[in-house]
Amino acid sequence: MIVAKFGGTSVGDAPAIGRLIEIVRSRREDDPVVVVSAMAGVTDALLGLERPVHAGDAATLDAALARLVTRHQETMQGLPGTGAALLAIAEDAAALRTELLPALGRRLRPQELDAVASRGELWSSRLVAAALEGAGVAATWIDVRSVMVTDDRFTRATPDARAVVERARTCLRPLSESGRIPVTQGFIGATADGIPTTLGRGGSDFTAALLGAALDATRVEIWTDVNGLMTADPRIVPSARTLAEASYEEAAELATFGAKVLHPATAQPLVRAGIPIVVLNSTQPERPGTTIEPSAILERMGDSPVRSISWKRGITVINIRAPRMLGAFGFLRALFEVFERHEVVVDVLASSEVSVSLTIEQRSHLGAVMRDLAELGEVSVDHGRAVVAVVGIGLRHTPGLAARLFRAVQPANVEVISQGASAINMTFVVREEDGPGVVQRLHLEFFGTC
Ligand code: ADP
Ligand code: ASP
Ligand code: MG
Repeated sequence: MIVAKFGGTSVGDAPAIGRLIEIVRSRREDDPVVVVSAMAGVTDALLGLERPVHAGDAATLDAALARLVTRHQETMQGLPGTGAALLAIAEDAAALRTELLPALGRRLRPQELDAVASRGELWSSRLVAAALEGAGVAATWIDVRSVMVTDDRFTRATPDARAVVERARTCLRPLSESGRIPVTQGFIGATADGIPTTLGRGGSDFTAALLGAALDATRVEIWTDVNGLMTADPRIVPSARTLAEASYEEAAELATFGAKVLHPATAQPLVRAGIPIVVLNSTQPERPGTTIEPSAILERMGDSPVRSISWKRGITVINIRAPRMLGAFGFLRALFEVFERHEVVVDVLASSEVSVSLTIEQRSHLGAVMRDLAELGEVSVDHGRAVVAVVGIGLRHTPGLAARLFRAVQPANVEVISQGASAINMTFVVREEDGPGVVQRLHLEFFGTC
């Protein structure tokens, strides 16, 4: 078996779904399980419904819902056999309207946001299953919420891996063995009581990996809109090259620091069984893509020890200066307890004897975090920062890299520097507006082009 996941642009319109059908057909012998994202832009549009709901504006809400239905309808016109799916989508959009009306005039709760956002994957998967069937490929639509059991941390739920294994084996495997192709949703799940949840933005890759691990898949294919994992985001560095291979660790670091092509948790369920992830371009399916696996032989791009460069904007740096830290046992523990208490994830950390600097992405609990940190020392905050990460297994064996890196980054000012415990990344903070330029200069330094 394989799992084949198609991202938003790979199901974004009728031609894209046409290509998906041919890709799935070409993989029939591999017994694929198909996982799909919402059509490109639909998750944003669904989450955007909150605005008219909050404003109590029923007319704008109705217009936005109608646009979403029309978008799916227009796509279907190019695909035979999708009439019944359209009916199901239109009915569900009406049900969503009924769910939202009582919330007019207030903000949606996280639980309600998940119920809204999950529609995108539910609808696109109906379309894809019907289109496959219409093209003579036996496919069955499966509601992944009966498989993807999660906790109730709405908008960023964690799957219960054991339950997922059990249910994927009882629900998906027999279907696949009977010769039908299960078509299901990425990103969404449900609590054990059946309340809809989501795994966090970009989470469809993670779904594919969880199902791949549960089903002992021979590989997990991630079909997207670029040729694979690249030496940098091609939107920032147009000359970026596609990597033939990368290791799980490298992929995870790159994804954590902004390489959106993979969700940061994707590799995690696959490590134990060593199942490879192959990132492929759905518009050019004949290209080899990038294979991500444990044993990736160190493939050097020219003589660069660096595999790839990523960056992430919207970062806040918190500096805590603690005179009492000198000799004060438990300072770091107390510090981390603050972040744990407020469930705020720390990305980069650098410490000296008297101060600690760390970065966070999410600002929702910043006020409360600051209040608690103020009890430990003098606190200051810098907004509008970006994290840049230079990643490669080769970093472990390459002395003197920091000097090259700093030369390349100039004239931008580097604020916080950290080397991950795995020693395969060097991470630093710059002002947000310097981010793209820094990535380009680093690409020039390590790969010779920008
Ligand atoms: P999908 O909808 O298929 O999940 P995403 O938009 O989530 O696709 O991710 C693909 C995008 O990731 C690409 O269009 C590209 O701009 C971006 N990206 C960022 N960093 C990288 C990188 N290092 N390699 C490839 N793509 C990258
Ligand atoms: N549709 C979801 C999102 O836009 C999940 C995904 O695409 O992976 O975040
Ligand atoms: Mg994605």
